[in-house]
Amino acid sequence: QHQKYIRNFSIVAHIDHGKSTLADRILEMTDTVSKRDMQDQILDNMDLERERGITIKLNAVELTYHAKDGHDYEFHLIDTPGHVDFSYEVSRSLAACEGAVLVVDAAQGVEAQTLANVYLALDDDLEIVPVINKIDLPSADPDKVKKEIEDVIGLDASDAVLASAKQGIGIEDLLEQIVAKVPAPSGDLDAPLKALVFDSVYDDYRGVVLSVRVYDGTVQPGDKIRMMNSETEYEVTEVGVNSPNPLSRDYLIAGDVGYITASIKDITETRVGDTVTNAEDPADKALPGYREMNPMVYAGLYPTDNAKLTDLREALEKLKLNDAALEFEPESSQALGFGFRCGFLGMLHMDVVQERLEREFNLDLITTAPSVTYHAYLTDGTMKEVENPAEMPEASAIKKIEEPIVKATIMAPNEYVGAVMELCQHRRGQFLTMEYLDDYRVNIIYNMPLSEIIFDFFDKLKSSTRGYASLDYEMNGYQESDLVKIDLLLNGDKVDALSFIAHRTFAAQRGREIASRLKGIIPRQNFEIPIQAAIGAKIIARTTIKAYRKDVTAHLYGGDRTRRMKLLEKQKAGKKRMKAVGRVDIPQEAFMAVLKTD
Ligand code: GDP
Ligand code: MG
Repeated sequence: QHQKYIRNFSIVAHIDHGKSTLADRILEMTDTVSKRDMQDQILDNMDLERERGITIKLNAVELTYHAKDGHDYEFHLIDTPGHVDFSYEVSRSLAACEGAVLVVDAAQGVEAQTLANVYLALDDDLEIVPVINKIDLPSADPDKVKKEIEDVIGLDASDAVLASAKQGIGIEDLLEQIVAKVPAPSGDLDAPLKALVFDSVYDDYRGVVLSVRVYDGTVQPGDKIRMMNSETEYEVTEVGVNSPNPLSRDYLIAGDVGYITASIKDITETRVGDTVTNAEDPADKALPGYREMNPMVYAGLYPTDNAKLTDLREALEKLKLNDAALEFEPESSQALGFGFRCGFLGMLHMDVVQERLEREFNLDLITTAPSVTYHAYLTDGTMKEVENPAEMPEASAIKKIEEPIVKATIMAPNEYVGAVMELCQHRRGQFLTMEYLDDYRVNIIYNMPLSEIIFDFFDKLKSSTRGYASLDYEMNGYQESDLVKIDLLLNGDKVDALSFIAHRTFAAQRGREIASRLKGIIPRQNFEIPIQAAIGAKIIARTTIKAYRKDVTAHLYGGDRTRRMKLLEKQKAGKKRMKAVGRVDIPQEAFMAVLKTD
């Protein structure tokens, strides 16, 4: 029976512990990729992933492993990202698998995302295969890490694979353990088709490509399929697997992880978490799917060129297919015109979305400062959810404002407890508890305002613990707080997209800081630009950008008109990520300046 020789597993770990490099070695050892085509972190195939050296998207590949028992096994391996902003990719990957390979860095040991990912895998009842990686490092201490895995996670690590993904050590041991420990899939080949959509991407030629895990039945080209939740039907044009390049197949069967195309052009009708069934012989119940992700932060996305609004909408729709956590709805700003309010899982996610929109869809965008969702309780008894600071009602209409709180778990070595607590306290954190995990590690748990940690908290945490602390957080309700809206005026005009919300105690200071920061960012023009910060009608800070003296085209004597135009055009092209607001050009950094803390 064919299924007996299938193994489906995800590789999970804290960021940088070596997941993608381990995947490289597995692809190499099984001759899935030839030596000639091999490159480092080959599954990180997006330019953005390669440039930043991080995995952003899950990536599923099929490979064949000739095991010591003499049989050929078909492995479906899913490489996953490690950053907290992309944990949705991890949880969707895990739902397609029976096992998880848990990579732990032999020098760093268990970190916050190691734990977070283990919990996700245990939620899905997956078999966990621990791997201690980077044993080649001089600072590696595999025995200590084994003990950590047992004490902190509670997994038996006595026969954990000792590996160096870099040097290719321990790979065969790992593959054998996968064969031995990860259960084979157990779906019913003769039952009606049930396949879970765990990812998708839009392809100009093939339409929507669905990544699926088949649980029951089979699917092949020509089949009529139905998406059980969206109730749409299509005819299958191709099925296949990635290896790692797309490889079409005659059929996919229960237990397989692969892709389906069906000339799906309607991009709004396909959702990750939906169940694909056979339209003529449908399953009676859809698979449970995924819980919807709630965005943590919102920001406005505006095309620098107003004429590109429709392009931006189309791009967002297509990108959403490949980024299920992205949310958006139209919004408008007096300063920036028409755009979209987008919801993200964190700052890195936001950054990646902006970059992908610009690269993959050729757009120039301005992102406004991200904001959390505030709850404004009004004097008329209603509650308004405020995702955009500019929309905060007048102070006189507000009874109280509540802000989102997260439960932040910071894992750090003992000697940094003081530094971590000082930082959390400084960011309005409320100490909850502290757990000693073993002899040298502690989990410090705080309730923190989400707005205080989304921007640079993680960087500050890293720098105050010499890189040793790691962070995980989850939403933990709303709490009343004394918050005020601060407006910024350029040249006397309020720029709504620069408004922000701060705690009253810090408002005046933040207003001054930001006004002076804007002064350094907004380019001089040929007239003076006053910058003011205000709470309601009260000005709390002011400064001025002086006019510039020299006209860039002055040395051309105003004579040669074409040269003059060319120069102006060149200047214009160099004005990427800049938006004209009234008579003032505002660069992208200005919107982000609002968030920076010194
Ligand atoms: P990921 O974030 O878990 O996917 O980690 P990567 O595979 O991208 O690796 C992160 C960094 O660790 C890269 O610089 C790798 O070269 C390095 N690395 C991965 N495995 C090993 C290893 O076994 N030994 C050493 N010394 N470095 C490794
Ligand atoms: Mg990776």
